[in-house]
Amino acid sequence: MNTLVLSAEDKNKESAYELLKNGEIVAIPTETVYGLAANGLNVSAVKKIFEAKGRPQDNPLILHISSIDMLKEIAAYIPPIALRLADTFWPGPLTMIFPKRAVIPSETCGGLDTVAVRMPNNRFTLSLIEKCGFPLAAPSANTSGLPSPTAAKHVYEDMKGKIPLIIDGGECKFGVESTVITFENDERLRILRPGGVTAEMLREYANVVIDDGVLMKIDPDIKVLSPGMKYKHYSPKADVFILNGSTENIIAFLSDRDSSLKIAYLGYGNESLGGNIITVPYGETSEEQAEHLFSGLRMCDELECDEVYVRMPEKKGMGLAVYNRLLRSAGFRVIEL
Ligand code: AMP
Ligand code: MG
Repeated sequence: MNTLVLSAEDKNKESAYELLKNGEIVAIPTETVYGLAANGLNVSAVKKIFEAKGRPQDNPLILHISSIDMLKEIAAYIPPIALRLADTFWPGPLTMIFPKRAVIPSETCGGLDTVAVRMPNNRFTLSLIEKCGFPLAAPSANTSGLPSPTAAKHVYEDMKGKIPLIIDGGECKFGVESTVITFENDERLRILRPGGVTAEMLREYANVVIDDGVLMKIDPDIKVLSPGMKYKHYSPKADVFILNGSTENIIAFLSDRDSSLKIAYLGYGNESLGGNIITVPYGETSEEQAEHLFSGLRMCDELECDEVYVRMPEKKGMGLAVYNRLLRSAGFRVIEL
């Protein structure tokens, strides 16, 4: 299959729409990461997403909508707190989980009786969903297990020959996937995956519990609230480790590594370690680190690094999302220095 790349301009909306209407997949830009979109109400279209990504069948997809009316068509019950959050954070990087209506095929939701829904904050994509009139199921547009794509060229690397169209909307603003929440009651919600809408922001509206799966390794045999949390994720080919320590200790540790290995270091800002170590700056602030984490990890593969060391992010605000992704990239290997 030939994979076409078109810019996110109004004149290209029709091509994307025609494909989606006919049950095909189109990669779309969002403010978080690129999505691999198909009609979320069409079983055969949804199956194509799982196939293109190599995604496990029990890992449910997020449905992307363009209006609250569309939410009402797919959610069987919407708690009042959800409407307040939608009012504040949609369109934006917040995914909420609702009991699902029968119109959504079980394949879309990985066999669960709930559905995850989000309104993305991207002008082109919102108007494309509106034109379609059906919700777009759209997981991140990477091959399962690899770092999520934050630029159209990352999508092309993974999906070339597998999908007919990629819409290039430039680099993604947030760089990590949406925050995923579920409601325990009208005052309490649980964060299943941290993202751009932070725990601190949500605490203004409700009591917030952070699920254990956010920072802990999940036993693959146990039942979890968010199936996506149990899989290996976001990993480049190189071995990734998290380093917790001062710049001096990091320099001392890395200069002791085998000099025949190609080593990359993702540090905060202008830290330069010298020697053979390739420094890939990923940012001073948690927001910058989120924006550059996945592209930094992909760059390490382009440079054919053997080992990648990443400096420990902060664990609050957007930093919690960075740390959650990084723990999975690193297979939970944290080295205390
Ligand atoms: P992705 O689309 O690749 O960013 O992943 C979507 C994330 O949302 C995964 O971690 C899923 O497990 C989670 N998710 C999607 N639908 C549900 C649902 N109905 N209940 C719980 N988690 C969900
Ligand atoms: Mg993903």
